[in-house]
Amino acid sequence: MIPVAEPWIGEKELQYVTDCVKSGWISSLGDYVIAFEERFARYCGMEYGISCANGTVALHLALVALGIGGGDEVICPTLTFIATANAISYTGAKPVFVDSEPYTWNIDPERIEEKMTKNTKAIIPVHLYGHPCDMDRILEIARANGLYVIEDAAEAHGAKYKGKMVGSMGDIACFSFYGNKIITTGEGGMLLTNDEDIFERAKLLRDHAMSTTKRYWHEFIGFNYRFTNVQAAIGLAQLERIDEIIKIKRKNAKLYNSLLKDVEGLTLPPEMDWAENVFWMYSVLIEDDFPVVRDELADSLRERGIDTRPFFCPIHVQPAYSEYNSERFPVAEELARKGINLPSGTTLMREDIQNVVSGILSCIS
Ligand SMILES: *Cc1c(COP(=O)(O)O)cnc(C)c1O
Repeated sequence: MIPVAEPWIGEKELQYVTDCVKSGWISSLGDYVIAFEERFARYCGMEYGISCANGTVALHLALVALGIGGGDEVICPTLTFIATANAISYTGAKPVFVDSEPYTWNIDPERIEEKMTKNTKAIIPVHLYGHPCDMDRILEIARANGLYVIEDAAEAHGAKYKGKMVGSMGDIACFSFYGNKIITTGEGGMLLTNDEDIFERAKLLRDHAMSTTKRYWHEFIGFNYRFTNVQAAIGLAQLERIDEIIKIKRKNAKLYNSLLKDVEGLTLPPEMDWAENVFWMYSVLIEDDFPVVRDELADSLRERGIDTRPFFCPIHVQPAYSEYNSERFPVAEELARKGINLPSGTTLMREDIQNVVSGILSCIS
């Protein structure tokens, strides 16, 4: 089977993990954690990095560190992985969904203001599938209305918006290092900020909010969201070749684009002239004039040993968020119906991509 994604683990990872294990520092204290936090923050052009157990809890930590909770509302796209909305729900705040833009597939900035109320506290733009959101417009709306911006950059490490790193534009940025993400630590996440107060609060919250001056003393309720030195050892090795990983992702996307550009009924992934997409998932839309529908294409590719994923199911239609079921988000719904992630891993060979393309073309003849 050609997988949609698989981690690319090399000798460096093994070497750092071995060193870490031999040192005995396998829990959440250790030099690898510190080095990984510092270097990942620096890579994104941010001051402070706080590693944590996964990307979902990075979002949760971010929201709690900003004081968001019951009675508050947080705006996010409906077309995203469920974690974005779940993290908001964990705080007691209400996720308020916004439709997608047809061209970037990201949250539509022009639809944000109509969803704001006096309870709105923050916006979480998600850089979906590796393409940055239109951040200037989002930041402008946030500033005009006194809202925080938390970038959900779980799918877009290293992507650029007008030359700026994704994750360097909001008050806080959250990343995931899950096995299929741009770089991985197995499970893992990171919160980035330039604000020292947010940094201190998030760090405290990550570790049961234990006082830094009095041991086993807790002024408020925190969490255990810590990351381990073993994970950080893998992360540091991954970070050392993130440029190479992104180069391969972009090269593979270019090859797909060149082979698929004349196929009628396919819409290729976006790359706005202000954006540098990292193509976390190389994704296409199967339009209505394509000979088969999306799920039939997926079945036929699976028969040829090619794995794919449908787009995320918009959150407003999911039973877990049934209170939103009567609301319609036509752009997100259409993207979710037509979108498919093709094999996008760093380990893909040129022949694999040609194979995927042949599979797609075989549906036409
Ligand atoms: C992967 C992902 C997350 C959550 O990350 P985990 O590490 O799996 O908890 C959050 N938001 C988006 C958009 C994601 O793709």
